[in-house]
Amino acid sequence: MSKKLFIETLGCAMNSRDSEHMIAELREKEGYETTDDLSVADLILINTCSVRERPVHKLFSELGGFNKKKKQGAKIGVCGCTASHLGEEIIKRAPYVNFVLGARNVSKICEVLHKDKAVEIDINYDESEFAFKDFRSSPFKAYINISIGCDKSCTFCIVPKTRGDEISIPDELILGEAKKVVAKGVKEIFLLGQNVNNYGRRFSGEHEKVNFTELLRRLSQIEGLERIRFTSPHPLHMDDEFIEEFAKNPKICKSMHMPLQSGSTKVLKEMKRGYSKEWFMNRVEKLRAECPDVSISTDIIVAFPGESDEDFEDTLDVVRRVKFDQLFSFKYSPRPETQAQHFTNVVDDEVASNRLSYLQGLNNEIIDEIHKKLVGNVYRVYFESLTKDNHVSGRSDNNVVIKVKGSEELLGEFKNVKITEIGRTILTGEIVA
Ligand code: SF4
Repeated sequence: MSKKLFIETLGCAMNSRDSEHMIAELREKEGYETTDDLSVADLILINTCSVRERPVHKLFSELGGFNKKKKQGAKIGVCGCTASHLGEEIIKRAPYVNFVLGARNVSKICEVLHKDKAVEIDINYDESEFAFKDFRSSPFKAYINISIGCDKSCTFCIVPKTRGDEISIPDELILGEAKKVVAKGVKEIFLLGQNVNNYGRRFSGEHEKVNFTELLRRLSQIEGLERIRFTSPHPLHMDDEFIEEFAKNPKICKSMHMPLQSGSTKVLKEMKRGYSKEWFMNRVEKLRAECPDVSISTDIIVAFPGESDEDFEDTLDVVRRVKFDQLFSFKYSPRPETQAQHFTNVVDDEVASNRLSYLQGLNNEIIDEIHKKLVGNVYRVYFESLTKDNHVSGRSDNNVVIKVKGSEELLGEFKNVKITEIGRTILTGEIVA
């Protein structure tokens, strides 16, 4: 009988891909199969996120629960970003944890498995050319890492401390991976990196100069590949060449994530984001001029230290002008090992909560207004998952999530769908010829 692996993944798409890598290594080299039932697992992994405070608190309560429910002799490993920054402390606080594996060390999963109390969290470890075994949780869409780490030093962000310096994965490896998944029937790839459009800044060894725009061009030559998505581009690196390629290349999905963080140039400076409100608006205008159907999503941090009412007004101004198709907003929370944790001009919590709810209310109004206009529109949808209410859901090229009545036979298919009903996060439609 095969050994059983239970894995819980928190956080972003990069963490999901790291989990796929660990599953692949454990399957091929150690004979593990995944299970959803924690009580039968021989190995329990929690792949953590530390971008926000809540997942870190959740980690220790979850670990306690896992320890109570696990079968005798089962091992527990803590992986990912929180593993990177807490390291040994995890084993001190939860001594039943068998090993700790940082976000930049996932290739060592089979090693640490056999070393009790191992802590592998070296953020300088270079996995950019590691030949991971292959496992994909979806047969329709494939995540592909194009870089590891981040070279920026945004003052609120812990990622450079958990994932280390940025290194690009050689384009020939990325192209090889993409060709392999397309040969298996995948029609959509999703490129991952902390700053995808900074691709090519540094490789591990000698390498020809290739930037992100060129990488997109090369990938789009792959026959059978229909869609390319990516996350996250950095507004600072959205040069004209990139925006023009994005607009004219039919394989690149017309949805762009542009993490604004704040609409105030003063706050952006404090955050060390490297761009101003004007630059951000200029890039949005260029993007919309080149590609009128593009959908734009963003991230906003509310109540960063020192954010005044005027600064917040600047954020609202950008939101009203851009009308983002999707907005992820959070109240600022200080993260360990970041510069901003030492900033003393903290915004009062009640003010912060009021700003967040105002922003979210405004965004909901905008989304409702955008969605109302979509009724009757026809989109080409790529179906990827079944919903609980006997529907099948997928995304349009510009990232509208749409469901239709149907079952498995639609999975992995492209269909034209007419929108019949709107919702805030998912629309309903019917297939048309
Ligand atoms: S660009 Fe800034 S926010 Fe994004 S991962 Fe790097 S440091 Fe964090």
